[in-house]
Amino acid sequence: MTSTFDFSSHAPGATQRLRIGVVFYIGVLLVLALLVGLSGWSAYRDYRSTTDLVRQNISALSRSLEGYISALLLQSYGSIYVVGEELQLSAAPPDVARIREELALAMRYDPVSAYLFVLRDGQLYAVDSRGQAAEGKLRGLLEQAPLATGEHPSFGRAFQPDNDSGYLMPMFISQRDAHGHEQKVGALIDTDRLGDLLRRLGLEEHMNAGMYDNSGGVLFRTPQPLRFVGQPLQLDSPLRARLGQSTFALVEGDNIDNERALFADAPSASFPIHAVVGQTSASYLTPWIKRSSYSALLLLISVLAIGLIAWQLRRLIGELSQSGRFYGQLFNDINDGVLLIGVDGRVQAANPRAARMFGVAGAELLIGRLPSELSPPYQPDGRLSLAASRAALSDLLNSELGERDSEWRFLRRDNREAFDCEVHSSRFRWQQNTLLLVVLHDITERKRYLAEQEYLASHDSLTGLPNRYWLVRHIEQRIAQGEGQRFAVLLLDMNRFKEVNDTLGHHYGDAVLQEVGKRLDDWLRSQGAQIARLGGDEMAIVTARPLDENDVGRLCQDVGQVLRQPLSAAGVQLEISASIGVASYPEHGESPADLLRCADIAMYQAKNSRRDFIVYQRSDDTYTLERLALYTHLGRAIREGGLQLHYQPKVRLDDQQVIGFEALLRWNHPERGLIPPGEFIPLAESTELIHPLTHWVIDEALRQLHVWRARGLGTCIAINISANNLRNPHFVGNLQALLAQHRVPAELIELEVTEGTLLEDPEMALRCLQAIRDLGVILSIDDFGTGYSSLAYLKRLPVQVLKIDRTFISAMTSNFSDAMIVQSTVALGHNFGMQVVAEGVEDAATAEALAQLGCDIAQGYHFGRPMPAEQVVAWRLQRQLESLGID
Ligand code: C2E
Ligand code: CA
Ligand code: CA
Repeated sequence: MTSTFDFSSHAPGATQRLRIGVVFYIGVLLVLALLVGLSGWSAYRDYRSTTDLVRQNISALSRSLEGYISALLLQSYGSIYVVGEELQLSAAPPDVARIREELALAMRYDPVSAYLFVLRDGQLYAVDSRGQAAEGKLRGLLEQAPLATGEHPSFGRAFQPDNDSGYLMPMFISQRDAHGHEQKVGALIDTDRLGDLLRRLGLEEHMNAGMYDNSGGVLFRTPQPLRFVGQPLQLDSPLRARLGQSTFALVEGDNIDNERALFADAPSASFPIHAVVGQTSASYLTPWIKRSSYSALLLLISVLAIGLIAWQLRRLIGELSQSGRFYGQLFNDINDGVLLIGVDGRVQAANPRAARMFGVAGAELLIGRLPSELSPPYQPDGRLSLAASRAALSDLLNSELGERDSEWRFLRRDNREAFDCEVHSSRFRWQQNTLLLVVLHDITERKRYLAEQEYLASHDSLTGLPNRYWLVRHIEQRIAQGEGQRFAVLLLDMNRFKEVNDTLGHHYGDAVLQEVGKRLDDWLRSQGAQIARLGGDEMAIVTARPLDENDVGRLCQDVGQVLRQPLSAAGVQLEISASIGVASYPEHGESPADLLRCADIAMYQAKNSRRDFIVYQRSDDTYTLERLALYTHLGRAIREGGLQLHYQPKVRLDDQQVIGFEALLRWNHPERGLIPPGEFIPLAESTELIHPLTHWVIDEALRQLHVWRARGLGTCIAINISANNLRNPHFVGNLQALLAQHRVPAELIELEVTEGTLLEDPEMALRCLQAIRDLGVILSIDDFGTGYSSLAYLKRLPVQVLKIDRTFISAMTSNFSDAMIVQSTVALGHNFGMQVVAEGVEDAATAEALAQLGCDIAQGYHFGRPMPAEQVVAWRLQRQLESLGID
């Protein structure tokens, strides 16, 4: 079946058109050939009949001419003969009278000769046609044409006696009489008489007629006798070959005018002469050519057309056989399986490649099978193969397009292995049948490769967990599932994992990650959650369902527990913990990137604040667009003077003296008005802006202090700095330079650093604080009580002041434990030889309580709000007046 399938009759479309073309051209070719044959034949027939007619004509004419001339000559000859006999036989030599008598007698019966004459012993005797003596007239003439000697009638050269008369042709016999006298007896024949017949019959325009003797002399010629008569035949005349011949013949050759001509040559039986009638070939061929030219033109066109068509045909047939071969070859050699399927859904033909794909010995073994019989019961998408193939079949048969691309899983018949194919099916008509051409392209390898690549691309090679790429896609898919999807993304970062790596080496670090990954994966699987490793010691968890506050706490706790399970590496018992940031969809972000970013921010916050986990809050997020704009504006404000300092007084509790001011930053935003530092300091701290910002603050505070001192207002100023400033290697140098520039003694300056930030890098902080302290600048720990710093560490810091955080102060009169914290902090500070400052004192009761506890200095709205520098002098004056009891 595979090889006998007729592709030349099968190939649809183009080949069909080719075949129609071939049939059409063959038809036209036949008709043209018939036309050519017919017109050629008729032209040939015409030619034959024309030439036959001419032959017949001139043959008949020449024969008649010969007969007529011979008859005429015979009469003259009769006269000559009789006169000759009489003179020969006479007993005595005849005298003049006798001879004349004989001649006159003969002339009486002779209607042809113009003259009769006897030449005897040099003596001429002659009579004319009336029998009158004519010697006088002939003597001169005969001398012009001397007569040769001959027994038989001979012909002398024809001549014209005078311009008015016609040609005379001498005919004579030579004799010797009984007495030994030589005599010539002859007649002069008027050649006009020879032409009588032609005149009667009428000679056609292109014909000529004539007579010549066996010596080749022209005796008679019409037309133009003047030119020919008396002359010998032309040397190249075809008639020369006829001299001496005695049978009739048609001769072809060039005539005197070098035109092709046909001659009918009739020799006389009685006289040594030939009668000839000739006709130029042109005279009869030209009309024939004219007649045939129309057919000739038709013929020419037809021949051209035939040539053209034959060429076309050759090409078409070439193409046809080529495309037939091509399709056949394609079917057999193509590296895709090809099935031809009938409307009943059964295979009608298959190519060898299909046989190999299905693992059968020959393509014929596939014939009659349904595709579903060649497939596993179910397709990968879960459809029943039988139902799916039926649906596909009816779709192909009924759809307008009649074409379809799909993927299909088949089954080999030999080893029952499944293989996947890309299937292109198309419907076509062939010999009144509808068939489906199904091309199978094996994509099993490709799929396997893709799956492998997909796995490699979406999994982490170290832990085997899905990677960030997978996670992003997973979140995208979850989001794409639409309405009602709610879930949380947890970002885990292991605490102090760097230490594990640095201490035990990367090899153990990797092993720890593998173990942790496996534990978490196992446990999370049971929770229906997904885990992925994002890189380093960072992992992310996507929960199956949304989490409320309690759930988050519980889940993070559980994760912590899984991590805390004993784990040893290199013989060391390790304790693993993680900081977790939590972001929820859709509240915190609507894309994987947003969710991960939010979880990341929350995770960093958790890490910084040493909490196990933190749920993302937009207000904590320094990375929003508004923040970016704010960042730009802040930079400008620092450079262009948009910032200002307010000053809040610090009061010594035992004598109520104002001992200094805290400089607090204000940003006068052109659009938003006065922005409190809480909104932009964290932004500056998270970027490099904190350095120029702090530099501006210190510069401005020192300048202000210098101004006040110059006006006699001796005081101290406390300046807030960020822990980030301590990381700046130029900070101490800059501070020193500013102190010198404003000529302010270092001990009038107090730098406040928050406790929490010191703890991020305690060693570095320690080194830097020491350097500052060496300048003579006072150092204080701000917001003390919020940072859980260890006493041992605190003790090592070169700090002179502790500032108790205002959260404790504001509640100390109502909250016992806060009061306890304040009390113990005061004691602790004093123990370490530090001054203790309370901030956020808002009422007299608190101030009183603090004084009781021995707190050294207080600060708060109770004493004075932060104010612009211009107000400070007035405020102090006011206060002094108050203390003196003057309002
Ligand atoms: P802080 O150093 O603890 O400053 C004291 C904050 O408490 C000030 O807020 C002040 O206005 C406020 N305050 C003072 N007395 C009372 C009171 O009786 N009750 C209440 N409820 N609040 C009181 P402010 O000015 O908004 O500053 C907030 C924080 O911004 C400061 O906290 C400080 O950490 C930071 N900050 C301010 N200026 C600078 C600066 O120049 N550089 C740096 N690095 N940080 C600054
Ligand atoms: Ca402060
Ligand atoms: Ca504070």
